Amino acid sequence: IFQLSLPLNFLGTIYREMRQNLLDMEILYKLVEENTPAKDAPGAKPLNLEGGSIRFENVAFAYHPDRPIFRDLSFTVPAGKKVAIVGPSGCGKSTVFRLLYRFYDPTAGRISIDGQDIGGVQIESLRRAIGVVPQDTPLFHADIMHNVRYGRLDASDEEVMEATRKANVDQTIARLPDGYKTMVGERGLMISGGEKQRLAVARVMLKDPPILFFDEATSALDAHTEFELMKNINTALLDKSRTSIFIAHRLRTVVEADLIIVLKEGEVVERGTHDELMRLRGLYHSMWQQQASLEGMEENEEEA
Ligand code: ATP
Repeated sequence: IFQLSLPLNFLGTIYREMRQNLLDMEILYKLVEENTPAKDAPGAKPLNLEGGSIRFENVAFAYHPDRPIFRDLSFTVPAGKKVAIVGPSGCGKSTVFRLLYRFYDPTAGRISIDGQDIGGVQIESLRRAIGVVPQDTPLFHADIMHNVRYGRLDASDEEVMEATRKANVDQTIARLPDGYKTMVGERGLMISGGEKQRLAVARVMLKDPPILFFDEATSALDAHTEFELMKNINTALLDKSRTSIFIAHRLRTVVEADLIIVLKEGEVVERGTHDELMRLRGLYHSMWQQQASLEGMEENEEEA
């Protein structure tokens, strides 16, 4: 489990260099982790957001030239809609996010937001528009209040507490030894994967981005906790028109999506709503049946 703990003075330095009143946890985390190769193109302009519609057009990408991940990937996320990406492990779901956030650039094709090629916009403005709830939420070695406030540094204590209430983690915090002053992160109190993801939801709520990217944890949560978390996200983060992309492992969480994209080996093999895909009786249908029988087994074990 990756937890970021950097001396706070290092944080301070980065913060001043960025000269922005919004320290984006995800950027910092990924900068350290991936040493981001993407750079602003000469003459890059700030992203001009209208509704936040996202388009991948004939995108090709490879981490290593001899192993292409995408050859010709196209899909659209209409403004304000909720799109889920599902598919077998390794099919490229997380890579979609890495391209959208410009940790990497496509080798061919184009990714655009509201008609603007993201290759030509200032990366900082792009990332400011996108809120991320990652699979494994990085926590700083700081107290809960500070960790949530990283979503928006000028948020008041009341706003932080309101966000944790909406993310349904306030009661957990109330039970911690020092409440909001409890130290977490490396050397701090260990909290569960689900609680960390709720803190990430609270952070993103403070950030209030027009585009949301949610990467469902693969194994950290049991089915029930996961379902509760998704309910919170639906009410807390999708309470207004926000374009969102969900990477989902538990298919139960995608039933309500406006569009489900099924990826296999880097290609879109099916797309539609849950009902449409069930009627197709293809890959989605068989993944669904497989999960339903696994979950049935889990429930039987719990009853036993
Ligand atoms: P999962 O459901 O298991 O999280 P995924 O669908 O999100 O998988 P990706 O993480 O997008 O899959 O990875 C797609 C492919 O690219 C995988 O085969 C993976 O091994 C490979 N890959 C991912 N990151 C890198 C990297 N930094 N360098 C090289 N190969 C990578």
